[in-house]
Formats: sequence, structure tokens, C-alpha cells
Amino acid sequence: MTALDTATGTAPGSAPDQVREQAPAVDGEPCVLVKLGEVVLKGKNREQFERRLADNIRLAVRPIARVDVVRRHGVFMVRAKDADAALVDRLAARITDVMGIVWAHRAWRVGKDVPSVERAALELMAGARGSFAVRSRRRDKRFPMTSTELDRHIGGLLNDAYHQPVRLKNPDHTLSIEVDRDEVFVFSGGLPGQGGLPVGMSGRGLVLMSGGIDSPVAAYRMMRRGLRVDFLHFSGMPFTGPESIYKAYALVRELDKFQGGSRLFVVPFGKAQQAIKTSGADKLAVIAQRRLMLRTGELVARRLRGAALITGDALGQVSSQTLTNITAQDDAVELPILRPLIGMDKTEIMDQARRVRTLSISELPDEDCCSMLAPLGAETRAKLDDLRQIDKRLDVEELAERLAASTQEHRPVYGEGS
Ligand code: ATP
Ligand code: MG
Repeated sequence: MTALDTATGTAPGSAPDQVREQAPAVDGEPCVLVKLGEVVLKGKNREQFERRLADNIRLAVRPIARVDVVRRHGVFMVRAKDADAALVDRLAARITDVMGIVWAHRAWRVGKDVPSVERAALELMAGARGSFAVRSRRRDKRFPMTSTELDRHIGGLLNDAYHQPVRLKNPDHTLSIEVDRDEVFVFSGGLPGQGGLPVGMSGRGLVLMSGGIDSPVAAYRMMRRGLRVDFLHFSGMPFTGPESIYKAYALVRELDKFQGGSRLFVVPFGKAQQAIKTSGADKLAVIAQRRLMLRTGELVARRLRGAALITGDALGQVSSQTLTNITAQDDAVELPILRPLIGMDKTEIMDQARRVRTLSISELPDEDCCSMLAPLGAETRAKLDDLRQIDKRLDVEELAERLAASTQEHRPVYGEGS
């Protein structure tokens, strides 16, 4: 479970940090202290993981500031030249979208001595009403106090100064003190990240991206497992308008915040659908169409050096997603098809779509390309032999080649046009 899953329903980047909202002036350097997720478990690969994550962070915040990412034991310090608290707030909010991070703390970097920590603690907690706890840890043990001594000392100091009660269980405010190699970080609260692994660590895949609710969530979940993804959308053009393309574009632009450099490939699919319809596929048309999409996807993925196809299928959600029909899809391609939503309920998928901010885009009206074949109904137990017959009648290999060659490439960039 990630920090995002356990967050109290607030989207990353929007969790208020009550103490810092008052923008205290602390004598020190403001920076973002980043806590890594599973990266810390990675043993020998750890160096590679950390380097990738640092690159991903630098890239994500490039439109805001050029930053230094200083790697420490299990944490990163992200700093920008002449940064003020407001800039650090923006950096921290943006960093929560970078996969592989559990927390982004807006921290103050102060001198490695007790008086500096005392000053920072007093400044940070000034005006904070309600119970509080101090939690210290030392990544570098060369400090005149142990963590427990520091907790007690700073807790007592704050209590004397502001007369707010100390409560170790569920305090209203937590002041964190982390003693590091050259400095001490002091902060209160933090923004939950996405967890997972840095994008790019797990290779590359191609997401079959409709304008619906599910496929964007599938993309999110695979990016969170470290996969870099490209996107492929089939539009009903020339028999439908371009609305579904706008939607796919807007969805990819939103999802781009998790990886950067996203590419969307669009295939005009209307004529191929018409061919399926007139091939006498009847109730098998929907499955035959899905197989053709996957075949086309496989060709595009190979061109992009993708090693997997990703879909938003969830078992039993619609009639094309019975176990038999899903198996019939696997039969059409050699590449593995990843279905990260396979065991999820629609409500769970919608909750996640809301958190990654794709739900409202997915809910916009459009003319889905699939609606052309929908009136035919769908066979729930498609037979492979029948499907292969249809493929033959359609000369599906050549058709897929032509479709794959007809893709138009777009580069939706997060933040662009907003
Ligand atoms: P979604 O919400 O992702 O559209 P869905 O519940 O509507 O999914 P289907 O329409 O059966 O289910 O689609 C299943 C999967 O097939 C989608 O999640 C997506 O990966 C792929 N797919 C369907 N339509 C398209 C399309 N027009 N372009 C690209 N991929 C598609
Ligand atoms: Mg759909």
C-alpha cells in the first residue's frame, strides 16, 4: 500500500500542512526532503534506482527551477539556488507526482548544532495550536544528543515557550528533526507521494488508451511500477468526430505528470470497424475488433521497443471481459498483455481515477469508436476457431500493418495549455 492509498482522500499536492501554511521565517535554507519508497529495498540495483529517480525529479521540476538533488542515506535533499519558502512549496507539490517517492517534506536545513535546531523548532512551531510531538532521528550519530534526548529537549523547550500539550499518539502537529551528515533538517508535516518505483526502471510498454475511465488508471498503475509507457488510441474517424482524440490527448497530458515525455499515437479505425461489421462477425465483432487493436498495438509497440501491451480490462466488468474473451485476446498477440485492473471493482478504479485527476476528463461526453459495433451485442464465450476464421476473412495481418502505419503522433505535455 502506498502513501497515496492511505492518504485521507486528499490528492497529492493538496494536503495542507497546517504549521507551514503560516509561512514562518526560519533561519536556514528551505529545501525539499524526499523520502524514497521501495527504492531503498533494492540491494545491488539501488545505485541505478537512485540515479534514475534523481534524474526523474530534476526533469519534473525543470519548468519551476533548476535543482540540485543531493543523495543521502535513503533520502534526497532537493535544493534550488536562492530558493524561498514559496518556491520550495511548488517544488514539493510537483515532486509528489514523481514515482518512487513516499513523502516530500518542505524542510529547513539548519546548522548541525543544538542552538540552531532550537531556533528552527521555535520558529516553525510559533502559532501552532493544539497538541504536538517531536520526532528526531539521526542518520549521522555524531551529534551531542541521542534522538530521545533531542525529542525531550526540544519538546520541553516548545512546551515552555508556547504552552501547548505534548501528545505522542495522534498529535495535531509533528515536528520532525533529522540529523544528517552536514546539517539538520527540521520540518512539520509533509505531502504524500505516489510510492512505487522510478519510471523507466521496469522498461517500456504501450497502453491501449480509450477515452474511458479504466485505461488511464491502468497506465498510472504500470507507471507506478516503473514502466515508461506510450499510448495508442483508436478513433472512429472518419465516421466519428475527433472528440475521442481530444479526450485521449487530455488524458495523456494529465498522466504525463507522472513520467514526462509522453507520446500518444492515434489510429483512424472507422474503416477497419466497418470491415469487421460487414465480415459477418455478428456477436463476435467486439472481440474481433479488440484482437485487431491488440495486433496493431503489437506492431506499434515493437517499433517503439515496447515489451508489453497494457489494457484497462477488469474481469467481468463488461461482456467482452469474461475470462473466455480475455483469453481470446491473448491468443491474438505474442507480446504479454498486462491488465493491472483485472481484479479491481469499478468503484475502486473510479476512486483511483479521481485521485490521479483523470476521472473528470474520462467522464466528458464523446463518441466512442466501439459504439459502431455495440448494437451487435457481444458473445460472452467467444470460440477461438471462429475468431481465427474472421481474422482470415479480414486478412487481419495486412490490415494491422496498414493501421500501424497510419498512426499520427502527438506529444501532450503536462501543464501545457492550462
Ligand atoms: P475503458 O474505460 O478503459 O474504456 P472499458 O471498461 O470501457 O475500458 P472496454 O471498452 O471493453 O472496457 O475496453 C477494454 C480495454 O480495451 C480498454 O481499457 C482499453 O485498454 C482498450 N480499448 C478499448 N477501446 C479502445 C480505443 N478506442 N482505443 C484504444 N484502446 C481501447
Ligand atoms: Mg471503453
